[in-house]
Amino acid sequence: MASLTLRSAGYTHKACPVCGWRFFTFDGLDEHSAECRTQENGRRIAALNNTRRRRCDQCSLVSTVAGLGIHQKATGHTGWTEAA
Ligand SMILES: [Zn+2]
Ligand SMILES: [Zn+2]
Repeated sequence: MASLTLRSAGYTHKACPVCGWRFFTFDGLDEHSAECRTQENGRRIAALNNTRRRRCDQCSLVSTVAGLGIHQKATGHTGWTEAA
């Protein structure tokens, strides 16, 4: 029982802090987590570039490009201004 607990505790220590993917060796985890963090940073930068806002000309609602599209479809509002 005790050895099983120890083993499972060690196992959780080898989980990637970014994506939670688990590894049997620390070498494997180190190699992965370096790569995983790089990918995660890339995703964050992509997300930042994706946060451009538009303001509805008719009710001044500010939303993402997609969000404003949904708003205007639902309300029938037209026209938008780029909002930084
Ligand atoms: Zn990962
Ligand atoms: Zn509107």
